[in-house]
This record gives sequence, C-alpha cells and structure tokens, in this order.
Amino acid sequence: MNITDRVRKLQEAGRELERRKSKINSSLWAMQSALLDLAAEALGRDDDVEGGDQWECENKENPIGMCVYDGHEDPAWDDCLFCHEPFERK
Ligand SMILES: [Zn+2]
Repeated sequence: MNITDRVRKLQEAGRELERRKSKINSSLWAMQSALLDLAAEALGRDDDVEGGDQWECENKENPIGMCVYDGHEDPAWDDCLFCHEPFERK
C-alpha cells in the first residue's frame, strides 16, 4: 500500500471514530436526561432539574444518587435539591 492509500485509510478510520463518538454522546445525553427525569419525578416537579453528572448525593432519597439543581431558581447550582450541597466543591 502506498502512502496516499494509507493516509486515505487513516482519514476514513478517523471519520468512523467520529461517527461512533457522536453516537455514544447522544446515548449518554439520553441516559442523563432520563436520570434527571427520575430525579424530577421523585421531587414532584416538571423538568426544571439540572446537573446530575458529578457529585454523589448524600441524601438516600435521591433516586439517581447524584446531586441535582433547580435550573431556574438556582442557576448557579448552589443548593442540591436533595442534600443542599453546592456544585462547586473543593
Ligand atoms: Zn445532593
């Protein structure tokens, strides 16, 4: 295989990886969104629940186990809806 063919093959492999990455990202996004819906339901709210991807929540009543915030009332994410810890932590 000459160098041009190799480069072409590598470029094609790179594009295939990008396609796979984008599929994985949309699956992760859908999963995240389903988890936030669960948290919102536990709180008896509509869909104004955000976060849920960084901190393990201390409150055992939190069905997703990750801290979540009210995106409207608390846009800075200072007060987890379950345990009241902020998103910014040392
Ligand atoms: Zn929490």
